[in-house]
Amino acid sequence: MAQPAYQRVLLKLGGEIMLGQRQSGVDPEAARDVAEQIKQVYDAGVQIAIVIGGGNIFRGVSGEKNGVERATADYMGMLATVINALALQDALEKAGIPTRVQSALSMPAVAENFVRRKAIRHMEKGRIVILAAGTGVPYVTTDTGATLHALELGCEIVMKATKVDGVYDKDPLKYPDAKRFSKLSYMDAIKDPNIAVMDTAGLTMCMENKMKILVFDAFKTGNLLRAVMGDDIGTLVE
Ligand code: UDP
Repeated sequence: MAQPAYQRVLLKLGGEIMLGQRQSGVDPEAARDVAEQIKQVYDAGVQIAIVIGGGNIFRGVSGEKNGVERATADYMGMLATVINALALQDALEKAGIPTRVQSALSMPAVAENFVRRKAIRHMEKGRIVILAAGTGVPYVTTDTGATLHALELGCEIVMKATKVDGVYDKDPLKYPDAKRFSKLSYMDAIKDPNIAVMDTAGLTMCMENKMKILVFDAFKTGNLLRAVMGDDIGTLVE
Protein backbone atom coordinates (compact mmCIF):
# COMPACT_ATOMS: atom_id res chain seq x y z
CA MET A 1 0.00 0.00 0.00
CA ALA A 2 1.17 3.54 -0.74
CA GLN A 3 2.74 5.34 2.19
CA PRO A 4 1.67 8.84 3.24
CA ALA A 5 4.01 11.65 2.19
CA TYR A 6 3.98 13.09 5.70
CA GLN A 7 4.20 11.64 9.20
CA ARG A 8 2.85 14.63 11.10
CA VAL A 9 0.67 17.38 9.65
CA LEU A 10 -1.00 20.52 10.84
CA LEU A 11 -4.46 20.73 9.36
CA LYS A 12 -5.88 24.25 9.30
CA LEU A 13 -9.65 24.20 8.93
CA GLY A 14 -11.48 27.45 8.29
CA GLY A 15 -14.61 27.80 10.39
CA GLU A 16 -16.68 27.74 7.20
CA ILE A 17 -16.17 23.99 6.94
CA MET A 18 -18.63 23.66 9.85
CA LEU A 19 -21.37 25.64 8.10
CA GLY A 20 -22.94 22.97 5.90
CA GLN A 21 -26.05 24.55 4.43
CA ARG A 22 -26.28 27.17 7.18
CA GLN A 23 -25.47 30.86 7.01
CA SER A 24 -23.71 30.80 10.36
CA GLY A 25 -23.02 28.47 13.28
CA VAL A 26 -22.31 24.75 13.30
CA ASP A 27 -24.13 22.10 11.28
CA PRO A 28 -23.57 18.74 13.01
CA GLU A 29 -23.81 16.97 9.67
CA ALA A 30 -21.00 19.11 8.25
CA ALA A 31 -18.94 18.29 11.34
CA ARG A 32 -19.61 14.58 10.74
CA ASP A 33 -18.52 14.86 7.11
CA VAL A 34 -15.24 16.53 7.98
CA ALA A 35 -14.62 13.98 10.75
CA GLU A 36 -15.02 11.16 8.19
CA GLN A 37 -12.45 12.81 5.93
CA ILE A 38 -10.03 13.24 8.82
CA LYS A 39 -10.53 9.61 9.84
CA GLN A 40 -9.16 8.43 6.48
CA VAL A 41 -5.95 10.32 7.18
CA TYR A 42 -5.81 9.09 10.77
CA ASP A 43 -6.30 5.50 9.59
CA ALA A 44 -3.37 5.96 7.19
CA GLY A 45 -1.19 6.42 10.28
CA VAL A 46 -0.54 10.16 10.01
CA GLN A 47 -0.22 12.19 13.22
CA ILE A 48 -2.61 15.14 13.09
CA ALA A 49 -2.85 18.46 14.88
CA ILE A 50 -5.83 20.58 13.87
CA VAL A 51 -6.19 24.33 14.16
CA ILE A 52 -9.75 25.38 13.57
CA GLY A 53 -10.94 28.93 12.79
CA GLY A 54 -14.07 30.68 13.91
CA GLY A 55 -15.25 32.57 10.84
CA ASN A 56 -18.58 30.71 10.75
CA ILE A 57 -19.42 32.29 14.10
CA PHE A 58 -17.44 35.47 14.64
CA ARG A 59 -14.48 37.32 13.16
CA GLY A 60 -12.71 40.15 14.95
CA VAL A 61 -12.57 42.34 11.87
CA SER A 62 -16.36 42.22 11.35
CA GLY A 63 -16.92 42.86 15.05
CA GLU A 64 -14.77 45.96 14.83
CA LYS A 65 -16.78 47.19 11.82
CA ASN A 66 -19.87 46.94 14.02
CA GLY A 67 -18.31 49.06 16.73
CA VAL A 68 -16.73 46.49 19.07
CA GLU A 69 -13.21 47.36 20.19
CA ARG A 70 -10.78 45.37 18.03
CA ALA A 71 -9.01 43.46 20.78
CA THR A 72 -12.34 42.52 22.40
CA ALA A 73 -13.72 41.47 19.02
CA ASP A 74 -10.66 39.28 18.47
CA TYR A 75 -11.14 37.58 21.82
CA MET A 76 -14.75 36.94 20.79
CA GLY A 77 -13.37 35.38 17.59
CA MET A 78 -11.04 33.18 19.61
CA LEU A 79 -13.98 31.98 21.72
CA ALA A 80 -15.75 31.10 18.46
CA THR A 81 -12.85 28.78 17.60
CA VAL A 82 -13.33 27.02 20.94
CA ILE A 83 -16.97 26.29 20.03
CA ASN A 84 -15.84 24.80 16.72
CA ALA A 85 -13.10 22.80 18.43
CA LEU A 86 -15.64 21.20 20.76
CA ALA A 87 -18.00 20.45 17.88
CA LEU A 88 -15.17 18.85 15.93
CA GLN A 89 -14.04 16.87 18.96
CA ASP A 90 -17.56 15.51 19.36
CA ALA A 91 -17.71 14.49 15.69
CA LEU A 92 -14.24 12.89 15.71
CA GLU A 93 -14.93 10.91 18.87
CA LYS A 94 -18.22 9.67 17.41
CA ALA A 95 -16.13 8.47 14.48
CA GLY A 96 -14.03 6.50 16.96
CA ILE A 97 -10.95 8.72 17.12
CA PRO A 98 -9.47 9.69 20.49
CA THR A 99 -8.90 13.45 20.69
CA ARG A 100 -7.81 16.20 23.03
CA VAL A 101 -8.71 19.86 22.76
CA GLN A 102 -5.98 22.23 23.90
CA SER A 103 -6.78 25.92 24.12
CA ALA A 104 -4.44 28.91 23.98
CA LEU A 105 -6.91 30.70 26.28
CA SER A 106 -7.25 29.01 29.64
CA MET A 107 -10.61 27.27 29.87
CA PRO A 108 -10.00 24.26 32.10
CA ALA A 109 -13.62 23.14 32.26
CA VAL A 110 -13.72 22.40 28.55
CA ALA A 111 -10.15 22.06 27.29
CA GLU A 112 -6.60 21.44 28.40
CA ASN A 113 -4.31 24.45 28.31
CA PHE A 114 -1.99 24.38 25.34
CA VAL A 115 1.24 22.69 26.42
CA ARG A 116 3.62 21.92 23.56
CA ARG A 117 5.16 18.74 24.94
CA LYS A 118 1.77 17.38 25.95
CA ALA A 119 0.36 18.08 22.49
CA ILE A 120 3.24 16.13 20.93
CA ARG A 121 2.71 13.27 23.39
CA HIS A 122 -1.00 13.11 22.51
CA MET A 123 -0.15 12.69 18.84
CA GLU A 124 2.47 10.06 19.60
CA LYS A 125 -0.18 8.15 21.55
CA GLY A 126 -2.55 8.19 18.60
CA ARG A 127 -4.76 11.10 19.62
CA ILE A 128 -5.68 13.97 17.38
CA VAL A 129 -4.98 17.31 19.06
CA ILE A 130 -7.43 20.09 18.28
CA LEU A 131 -5.89 23.47 19.00
CA ALA A 132 -8.41 26.11 19.93
CA ALA A 133 -8.17 29.89 20.41
CA GLY A 134 -5.44 30.36 17.80
CA THR A 135 -2.41 32.05 19.33
CA GLY A 136 -4.34 33.33 22.35
CA VAL A 137 -3.58 36.96 21.43
CA PRO A 138 -5.56 39.45 19.33
CA TYR A 139 -4.67 41.16 16.02
CA VAL A 140 -3.83 37.93 14.24
CA THR A 141 -5.88 35.08 12.80
CA THR A 142 -5.87 31.33 13.10
CA ASP A 143 -3.56 31.14 10.04
CA THR A 144 -0.82 32.58 12.22
CA GLY A 145 -1.84 30.19 15.00
CA ALA A 146 -1.61 27.29 12.54
CA THR A 147 1.89 28.29 11.44
CA LEU A 148 3.19 28.76 14.98
CA HIS A 149 1.74 25.47 16.16
CA ALA A 150 3.02 23.62 13.07
CA LEU A 151 6.53 24.87 13.80
CA GLU A 152 6.60 24.15 17.50
CA LEU A 153 4.93 20.73 17.15
CA GLY A 154 7.35 19.56 14.48
CA CYS A 155 4.75 19.21 11.73
CA GLU A 156 6.09 18.87 8.20
CA ILE A 157 3.41 20.92 6.48
CA VAL A 158 0.50 23.28 7.06
CA MET A 159 -2.43 21.88 5.11
CA LYS A 160 -4.83 24.74 4.65
CA ALA A 161 -8.29 23.48 3.81
CA THR A 162 -10.41 25.93 1.83
CA LYS A 163 -13.43 26.05 -0.45
CA VAL A 164 -11.32 26.49 -3.59
CA ASP A 165 -8.93 23.97 -5.06
CA GLY A 166 -5.77 26.03 -4.62
CA VAL A 167 -4.28 29.48 -5.04
CA TYR A 168 -5.21 31.53 -8.10
CA ASP A 169 -3.75 34.66 -9.69
CA LYS A 170 -7.09 36.37 -8.95
CA ASP A 171 -10.32 35.45 -7.18
CA PRO A 172 -11.69 32.40 -9.08
CA LEU A 173 -15.18 32.97 -7.71
CA LYS A 174 -15.24 36.40 -9.40
CA TYR A 175 -13.07 35.82 -12.47
CA PRO A 176 -13.70 32.71 -14.62
CA ASP A 177 -10.33 33.15 -16.40
CA ALA A 178 -8.37 32.99 -13.10
CA LYS A 179 -5.38 30.62 -13.27
CA ARG A 180 -4.46 28.14 -10.55
CA PHE A 181 -0.85 27.68 -9.49
CA SER A 182 0.21 24.12 -8.72
CA LYS A 183 3.38 25.47 -7.04
CA LEU A 184 4.23 28.91 -5.76
CA SER A 185 7.18 30.47 -3.95
CA TYR A 186 6.66 32.21 -0.62
CA MET A 187 7.99 35.45 -2.10
CA ASP A 188 5.59 35.41 -5.06
CA ALA A 189 2.71 34.82 -2.68
CA ILE A 190 3.78 37.69 -0.41
CA LYS A 191 4.51 40.18 -3.22
CA ASP A 192 1.24 39.90 -5.13
CA PRO A 193 -1.74 41.37 -3.25
CA ASN A 194 -4.15 39.43 -5.50
CA ILE A 195 -2.74 36.10 -4.32
CA ALA A 196 -4.46 34.87 -1.18
CA VAL A 197 -2.64 32.03 0.61
CA MET A 198 -3.00 33.08 4.23
CA ASP A 199 -2.46 36.21 6.27
CA THR A 200 0.93 37.86 5.76
CA ALA A 201 2.13 37.24 9.31
CA GLY A 202 1.62 33.48 8.93
CA LEU A 203 3.05 33.41 5.42
CA THR A 204 6.20 35.30 6.42
CA MET A 205 6.75 32.96 9.34
CA CYS A 206 6.41 29.95 7.03
CA MET A 207 8.96 31.48 4.64
CA GLU A 208 11.47 32.24 7.40
CA ASN A 209 11.21 28.70 8.76
CA LYS A 210 10.75 26.84 5.45
CA MET A 211 7.39 25.43 6.51
CA LYS A 212 5.51 24.12 3.46
CA ILE A 213 1.90 25.15 2.93
CA LEU A 214 -0.61 23.21 0.87
CA VAL A 215 -3.80 25.06 -0.02
CA PHE A 216 -6.46 22.63 -1.20
CA ASP A 217 -10.19 22.04 -1.49
CA ALA A 218 -11.28 20.13 1.58
CA PHE A 219 -14.95 20.17 0.61
CA LYS A 220 -14.30 17.53 -2.04
CA THR A 221 -14.58 14.01 -0.63
CA GLY A 222 -11.26 12.15 -0.46
CA ASN A 223 -9.10 15.24 -1.01
CA LEU A 224 -7.70 15.31 2.49
CA LEU A 225 -6.35 11.79 2.11
CA ARG A 226 -5.01 12.60 -1.36
CA ALA A 227 -3.24 15.64 0.08
CA VAL A 228 -1.38 13.62 2.74
CA MET A 229 -0.50 10.93 0.19
CA GLY A 230 1.33 13.68 -1.71
CA ASP A 231 -0.98 13.66 -4.74
CA ASP A 232 -0.70 16.69 -6.97
CA ILE A 233 -3.74 18.59 -5.76
CA GLY A 234 -4.15 22.21 -4.70
CA THR A 235 -1.21 24.61 -4.53
CA LEU A 236 2.03 23.87 -2.74
CA VAL A 237 3.78 26.95 -1.39
CA GLU A 238 7.47 26.35 -0.59
N1 UDP B 1 -8.26 35.36 16.48
C1 UDP B 1 -7.34 36.10 17.19
N2 UDP B 1 -6.11 35.54 17.47
C2 UDP B 1 -5.75 34.30 17.03
C3 UDP B 1 -6.69 33.56 16.29
C4 UDP B 1 -7.94 34.10 16.03
O1 UDP B 1 -7.60 37.22 17.57
O2 UDP B 1 -4.63 33.86 17.30
C5 UDP B 1 -9.62 35.89 16.26
C6 UDP B 1 -9.73 36.84 15.08
O3 UDP B 1 -10.66 37.85 15.41
C7 UDP B 1 -10.28 35.95 13.99
C8 UDP B 1 -11.23 35.06 14.77
O4 UDP B 1 -10.52 34.82 15.99
O5 UDP B 1 -10.99 36.69 13.01
C9 UDP B 1 -11.61 33.76 14.10
O6 UDP B 1 -10.50 33.16 13.48
P1 UDP B 1 -10.27 33.20 11.88
O7 UDP B 1 -10.77 34.47 11.30
O8 UDP B 1 -8.84 32.87 11.65
O9 UDP B 1 -11.20 32.00 11.43
P2 UDP B 1 -11.36 31.32 9.99
O10 UDP B 1 -11.30 32.40 8.95
O11 UDP B 1 -10.23 30.37 9.83
O12 UDP B 1 -12.67 30.62 10.06
